[in-house]
Amino acid sequence: MTTYPFPAAANPAIARTPQAEDGLVTYGLYIDGAFVPPVGGQYLESSDPVTGEAWSRVPRAGAEDVDRACRAAQAAFDNPEWRGLSASARGKLMRKLGDLITENADWLAAVEMKDNGKLIAELGNQMRYMANYYYYYGGLADKIEGSTIPTDKPGVFNFTRYEPLGVVACIMPWNSPLPLTSLKLAPALAAGNTVVLKPSEFTSASLLEFVKLVELAGFPKGVVNVVTGYGHEMGEALVSHPVVERIAFTGGPIAGRIINEQAARSMKRVTMELGGKSPNIIFEDADLEQAVKGAVTGIFAASGQTCVAGSRLLLQRSIHDQFLEKLVAFLEDIRFGHPSDPETQIAPISTAPQMAKIEEYVRIATDEGARLVRGGKRAVVEGYPNGLFYEPTIFADVRNDMRIAQEEVFGPVLAVIPFEDEDDAVRIANDIDFGLAAGIWTQNLARGIRMTERVRAGTIWVNNYRSTSTTSPFGGFKMSGIGREGGIVGMLEYMELKSVWVSTGVEIPNPFIRR
Ligand code: NAD
Repeated sequence: MTTYPFPAAANPAIARTPQAEDGLVTYGLYIDGAFVPPVGGQYLESSDPVTGEAWSRVPRAGAEDVDRACRAAQAAFDNPEWRGLSASARGKLMRKLGDLITENADWLAAVEMKDNGKLIAELGNQMRYMANYYYYYGGLADKIEGSTIPTDKPGVFNFTRYEPLGVVACIMPWNSPLPLTSLKLAPALAAGNTVVLKPSEFTSASLLEFVKLVELAGFPKGVVNVVTGYGHEMGEALVSHPVVERIAFTGGPIAGRIINEQAARSMKRVTMELGGKSPNIIFEDADLEQAVKGAVTGIFAASGQTCVAGSRLLLQRSIHDQFLEKLVAFLEDIRFGHPSDPETQIAPISTAPQMAKIEEYVRIATDEGARLVRGGKRAVVEGYPNGLFYEPTIFADVRNDMRIAQEEVFGPVLAVIPFEDEDDAVRIANDIDFGLAAGIWTQNLARGIRMTERVRAGTIWVNNYRSTSTTSPFGGFKMSGIGREGGIVGMLEYMELKSVWVSTGVEIPNPFIRR
């Protein structure tokens, strides 16, 4: 078995994170521009999903650590070194950070691979693309304009302006740690806020390496802080901290609901990017070869561990059997392997609890009477006896009221549901609490457009699946979330709108005289 050492940064100015005596790379919390140990002295271990072995440890922060990070962010927000920077100067810092990300993309990808086991080929592209978040929002920093507003009041001049909120707390999941962080961090910084970042307990390492780039780019200390640990332990201290103005959360609906309730107590703003059970709808008039690839990309990319996974495949009955056959054939020669091998097509599941969840849902689907067409078990991969590999799994004869059709698995498990016609497809697609994304496959343009109007989801793809861009808004309907990330609206989520009235000579009325 090949061992993969902890990679060194491309940039020589970046100090290597030290290993403890037992060989584990040992991280600190990043507060006020310095790596510091947690007050309670406790750590969590992070393991490599390919070997199952621990390779690093990250601090298990408590309320006191969270308080230090929030206070540092508040002090940085009040410091003229940050507050006094023009929006254009902030934009320049952001572009410098984008350049550093580009230079160090392979290194960031390698660290992320060690934690969540994603394919290096995919991660490398993701990291390079991620620089665009900083270029885009850096460019936008000095282009958010207020307006002058014609009012019905004489003698006063009214205008609006956008201002930063202050301290923003960002909480992320494990499936795409740095890109999902950047979707929050880039607009929050461009808008002039300071941040406290809380990565997943399973994948904190890449962010603790990434902040070295933030420092190198020249952001003042305290503008970006990182606290790590269990969300259920230290989350409330962050979500209800008095200096925090907004919570930007990406994760599952259970944690999302708890955080939303806690935030509501002090009227904090929230953005919620939650789960999905997205329908990928194939009509009989679709280009079936394209649609097969779209269905596979939809559910089996990243082993289904993506929020937009097209996990409900709705097949028009007239092409149902033919399409299913093509789908199974397409998956015949897929290659499992180490995520760093460019030939590998299927990487491991990221965490042991996620593997247990997938196995549980396969049991549930079988008990519910769904028909297993492919997979349904762990994959044995030579050289990696402890690797968390799982076969792409397809269940047919699924009814939309089954749990396998209604609940998010977040793994490589596809539920195939037949439908009769357009109305039936719309009914099934919308009969669910989620509304994150949907795919529609048809060569009938009018039908494609009708479906984009009728399916209730935040993102709809017609004859493609998974296209996203920094420049375009992303978010969910219904239980899939609140607010939007990406695009100009994604930046406005991190700003307050102020209305200013200036007298141009108005006579101040005597407040005690009734009119
Ligand atoms: P999760 O909800 O278990 O955890 C997400 C984060 O929240 C972690 O950092 C965790 O420590 C923290 N957390 C948990 N409980 C908390 C609490 N009480 N207070 C504060 N923080 C708390 O989700 P996960 O398993 O890491 O990620 C998978 C989920 O993320 C899936 O449901 C997936 O659909 C969703 N997701 C959504 C999007 C999107 O953009 N809509 C993108 C990626 C993933």
